[in-house]
Amino acid sequence: MSRPEIQVKDLRKSFGDNEVLRGIDLEIGSGEVVCVIGPSGSGKSTLLRCVNLLEEPTGGRVLVGGTEVTDPDVDIDAVRRRIGMVFQQFNLFPHLSVTENLTLPQRRVLGRDKAEAAKVAAENLARVGLSEKADAYPASLSGGQQQRVAIARALAMGPEVMLFDEPTSALDPELVGDVLAVMRRLANEGMTMMVVTHEMTFAREVADRVVFMDAGVIVEDGTPEQVIGNPGNERTRHFLSRLL
Ligand code: ADP
Ligand code: MG
Repeated sequence: MSRPEIQVKDLRKSFGDNEVLRGIDLEIGSGEVVCVIGPSGSGKSTLLRCVNLLEEPTGGRVLVGGTEVTDPDVDIDAVRRRIGMVFQQFNLFPHLSVTENLTLPQRRVLGRDKAEAAKVAAENLARVGLSEKADAYPASLSGGQQQRVAIARALAMGPEVMLFDEPTSALDPELVGDVLAVMRRLANEGMTMMVVTHEMTFAREVADRVVFMDAGVIVEDGTPEQVIGNPGNERTRHFLSRLL
């Protein structure tokens, strides 16, 4: 594996007495794309949220780019700037134009001036194929376009790593393809990506590795061909059979 970009070591997370992550070990190399699959409630979102400290782990360690983000003395804001996150719900600001959605966080969080932020916004809108929507408002866009704006907004911050939590699950089926195409391009450009998804075709074609989680543990971790094509574990087989 190339230099590890994300390292998760014996990660544990409980909510009250509900232990949701029960010792997760995972390394993701620079430029690697890892898809995380598994049943609802298995802890996939919690794992992503622990990587960028939206949730505070109960135990274990997480390192991003060699920096221990679980170190109590870490600058959480500095860590989060290195990690882009895209959610199922796009969370765009409805009262701001597409360009303003991209420039506001750059100016607030990174302190970029207006011209620089606008330039980076335009570059990243082009990257997701939405240059012509720069002055539109979110409500006038399709769900797929809104999600591509959300991806562009995350990219405009210049992250080293992108986390996606079921980015296409809220979309009408005919809008899923455009979002996956943007993610595929990003993967080909060498972005390090961790993607929670139920899109098995995407996982098969784009992921370097697929991780199957169940009940707070990683049950299988291997190539798409191993985990999706020829799962060794009964729980994985059962999960996959229900998706078909
Ligand atoms: P997945 O993304 O795989 O569906 P989640 O990580 O969302 O799973 O949830 C795993 C478990 O953790 C579930 O039992 C869920 O109810 C619980 N959980 C998640 N977030 C919270 C929270 N903020 N407070 C309490 N329980 C939570
Ligand atoms: Mg989830």
